[in-house]
Amino acid sequence: MRARDLLWGKLQEVEKMPNFKTTIGLEIHVQLATASKMFCRCNNEAFGKNPNTTVCPVCLGMPGMLPVANKQAIEWTVKTGLALNCQINPMSKFDRKHYFYPDLPKGYQISQYDVPLCKGGYLEIDGHKIRLNRIHLEEDAGKLIHKDSSSLVDLNRAGTPLMEIVTEPDIGSPTEAAEFMRQLQKIVRDVVPVSEASMEKGHLRCDANIDIKDGTGKMSEIVEIKNLNSFRFVEKALAFEEKRLQEDHLLWPDFKAKITRGFDSKKGITFSQRIKEEAADYRYFPEPDLPPIDTTKFDFKSLKSNLAENEEQKINKLTAAGVNPNDAKVLVQSMKKYDIYQKLSSADIKPKFLAKIVVHNYFGIDIELLNNEKIKNYQNLIKLLADNKISKNQFSEACKKIHQGVSYNIILSDLESAKESRNGIGRIIDQILSLNTKEVERYRAGEKQLLGFFIGQVLKKSDGRVDPKVVREEIIKKLEK
Ligand code: ZN
Ligand code: MN
Repeated sequence: MRARDLLWGKLQEVEKMPNFKTTIGLEIHVQLATASKMFCRCNNEAFGKNPNTTVCPVCLGMPGMLPVANKQAIEWTVKTGLALNCQINPMSKFDRKHYFYPDLPKGYQISQYDVPLCKGGYLEIDGHKIRLNRIHLEEDAGKLIHKDSSSLVDLNRAGTPLMEIVTEPDIGSPTEAAEFMRQLQKIVRDVVPVSEASMEKGHLRCDANIDIKDGTGKMSEIVEIKNLNSFRFVEKALAFEEKRLQEDHLLWPDFKAKITRGFDSKKGITFSQRIKEEAADYRYFPEPDLPPIDTTKFDFKSLKSNLAENEEQKINKLTAAGVNPNDAKVLVQSMKKYDIYQKLSSADIKPKFLAKIVVHNYFGIDIELLNNEKIKNYQNLIKLLADNKISKNQFSEACKKIHQGVSYNIILSDLESAKESRNGIGRIIDQILSLNTKEVERYRAGEKQLLGFFIGQVLKKSDGRVDPKVVREEIIKKLEK
């Protein structure tokens, strides 16, 4: 209470004090929507999956595992850098950042220390240039789930590629910080695009640094607010902290520290967490298992040229190629579907047909296009489907087999023998129909219940060695043509 009274007295003097100046810098983590994780081939979509099901020895940090960098993630980070006016370091590298936590199986995070992929750059908010310090690439940790008195570890998210964007302390107000986040979301989601960038799903996470200076230039403590997960919270937490810092500074003008605070979104307040570690505590050193990155190999011109294609332009391009407008819209609005569509595009598949297959997921599963061989196999199946050589069911069955790693030759010979047996069934059906012309006429006149009779005859004739479902399909085909 005494402190409060004292503060009240001091606040009376505020009007005599020159204005406070607020300085805000942001560190933003963007989860990249690549198909696989940062250093292994695991499925990068952990959302909605059972715990510890999208993992492998690499992302579990088993001894002897070797990371292999995801080229797409590196390319997307460079592309984001180009969109944000950064310089791209010609040579970049990965480093190990050590810390101990149960959700970090290796005991270190592979990140980038002194040579990030992108440096400098800026983003303009209403004519105010907010400079960027850097953009680097790293891997995410797993998740801890606290239940009753125990804690459970889910490593599905471990190894997910994260792009960390660090601004200079150029942001002047909580409102501007929130606006920066909104603009950045648009860029990484629509312009580049490299992320679903949903704050609710945690694709876009923000830590905010804030300090204030009084009229004489004297600085307050520096506060970092961790894990702000909505635009509104960014603004609210910073506004609360701005006011708290001003009050504290009046009371204890000489207090200097770097502190970490969390935000309680229900109460709308920040709370003290811990004194921040210095960089040296992380014992950074170069990752010995990954070669340096030579970014001069990337074609900056083409990366830049397919930037800034917004939703409307993309839809126009698709419809101009013959894609149904509704399908075009669905494709463009789902990064994942759009990516699948682009990867499966080929000169001998009609865009309209391909779009339909992707939009309505004829594959029947979440397909993964991790290598050229798989892409080619799916394309071949799509061609067979387009030429009516296989049915929709056969198509999705075959896709499942490709997904499971069955060789394409085996799938093809299965399809061939299925065709053979269909031909055989077809011959038996022809015989049955020619022996029962009266029934055929009655069926065609509307007595559809006779279908069962025909099926029975065919099954009898073929000693039950055929699939009744196929028999049914084939009889209907013949009777109704
Ligand atoms: Zn893995
Ligand atoms: Mn980070």
